[in-house]
Amino acid sequence: MNYPTYAEVDTEANPDVAARPTSEPHSIVPIVSGGLDSITMLYDLMEQGHSFQRIVSFNYGQRHKKELHFASIHADRFGLQHTIIDLSQSGLVEVLNGSTSSLTNPDIDVPEGSYDEENMRATVVPNRNMMMLAIAGAIAVSDNANCIATAVHAGDHAIYPDCRPSFFYDFTMALKRGNEGFGNLAPTPVLTPFIHKTKGQIAKTAIELDLPLETTWSCYKGGNMHCGRCGTCVERLEAVAWAESVLGKRGYDDTPYADREFWKSAVKWNG
Ligand SMILES: [Zn+2]
Repeated sequence: MNYPTYAEVDTEANPDVAARPTSEPHSIVPIVSGGLDSITMLYDLMEQGHSFQRIVSFNYGQRHKKELHFASIHADRFGLQHTIIDLSQSGLVEVLNGSTSSLTNPDIDVPEGSYDEENMRATVVPNRNMMMLAIAGAIAVSDNANCIATAVHAGDHAIYPDCRPSFFYDFTMALKRGNEGFGNLAPTPVLTPFIHKTKGQIAKTAIELDLPLETTWSCYKGGNMHCGRCGTCVERLEAVAWAESVLGKRGYDDTPYADREFWKSAVKWNG
């Protein structure tokens, strides 16, 4: 089946281009994990003049739940509520512990190396985005907010089915239909500003917005410092190196890594 792209969702749901949600200030409920992508999204949406009552994070029993602390740094900085939805008490963790995801099953090692590799499938948490987005949607309707926002990006599409434009098309329709007559949702209420951007482009935006990268957490292993070897560390290091190079700001990133060199061989970097 050929699904429309997100841009086509805009057109179908809201033919008045001037009313597109990203072109006027909206009240937004952003899903902020504490990672580089979602915090950059928060800074970017703020820069565009949107308003926020709270940011929303999730504890789904992830190995790297220390990321939630990094989300709180930015909530505090902007004076926003930090709502942490604790799914760890819901019985979900016990179920996910038996999944094939290394993020929630302590018996499976977090894979190392480039995201291009097949073993990165072990970082997929079953139906994770659907759960988070559905709850964020409920909060948005409850808060009378206009939109929810999530920082999925183009590099996620290959591995994570729930980060693809086709999924967001269907989810947007479901959220609208499931809340008809309630709340204050915009015609296109699901913002995915990075869905066609690469991780490198996100890192470039972060640096342009003066976001201190060491105040974000990406590593799936959740240790004392970023490991530098897991898929998300490798992806982050490559993205930041590319962005620093493009902007002429080598050395901008102060994030401590246990291994700062491994990524170059993992992605065959020649920059
Ligand atoms: Zn790592």
